[in-house]
Amino acid sequence: MARLLNGKPVADRVAAALAPRVAALASRGRAPSLAALAYRPDPSARFFLERMQRAGERAGVAITPREAVDVDSLRAEIDRANRDARVHGITVLAPLPPSVDVAEVMEWVDPRKDVEGLHPYNAGRLASGKPTFIPYTAEAILLLLRESGAHVEGARAVVVGRSIVVGRPASLLLMYDHATVTLAHRGTHALASVTREAEILVVAVGRPHLITAEMVRHGAVVIDAGINATPDGVVGDVDFDGVSRVASAITPVPGGVGSLTTMLLLRNTVTAAEGLPG
Ligand code: NAP
Repeated sequence: MARLLNGKPVADRVAAALAPRVAALASRGRAPSLAALAYRPDPSARFFLERMQRAGERAGVAITPREAVDVDSLRAEIDRANRDARVHGITVLAPLPPSVDVAEVMEWVDPRKDVEGLHPYNAGRLASGKPTFIPYTAEAILLLLRESGAHVEGARAVVVGRSIVVGRPASLLLMYDHATVTLAHRGTHALASVTREAEILVVAVGRPHLITAEMVRHGAVVIDAGINATPDGVVGDVDFDGVSRVASAITPVPGGVGSLTTMLLLRNTVTAAEGLPG
């Protein structure tokens, strides 16, 4: 059976390392603060907000919820947070309506407050190898991979999903760690033959149980970023029961990638409050 890669112990270590930085900021009267914008009331946005507020209390980062009722008011709220010197970071909670392009919305955020790392300035910095704010889900994937002890340098890595939020930045981070990376998506032919090559398999798709045991190489390390609400509860993109019999290590859902992401968002907020270098 595969070893379980739990996110919480890693999140605890990130939180512990944040504490002195938060205390130093507070002593300068600059306690870190994150504006969390939701587009219309939504149960899953509320779930993420509550999780963020609990983590914020633990880490000493103030979370200010703000709600928009349409695209114009979302833009107005982002402008307001951009201008507010007491706000150091801005996050836009999922989901946005399908008609709204997340990449476009993130262009409205001041890049110095873009703690999601999705503004073209920060995405460009990451693509050019000089990252400022790294998208937190992609970073969580890499931290859990390191936790597995997997040898990333020279490994064959396959990332399924190429969104700007998860798959694309995760593939860049793997490439910087010297993996040989293949990025798969809906246009990929014979997905199973591609995933079976992977010594490291990262999945960020949003399709419950897309990846089955037959699609996974024996001994692979499997990182599942998927979060899918189903009648049976929250499941990942990987068929956990089957794949954990062939993988050497695997992230559970829930309890894996998703348990770490919020703390990394808060860490980016602390970095923003400290002021980015040059
Ligand atoms: P997204 O923007 O919808 O992107 C999904 C990607 O998967 C796209 O690149 C798409 O390909 C690809 N894809 C869809 N169906 C596929 C298939 N059958 N075969 C191969 N590729 C396929 O989703 P996302 O924002 O990246 O989110 C992905 C998952 O991660 C979701 O379950 C989401 O809930 C989860 N997530 C978790 C966290 C967290 O842990 N906090 C944060 C963000 C997202 P095309 O590009 O060709 O369309």
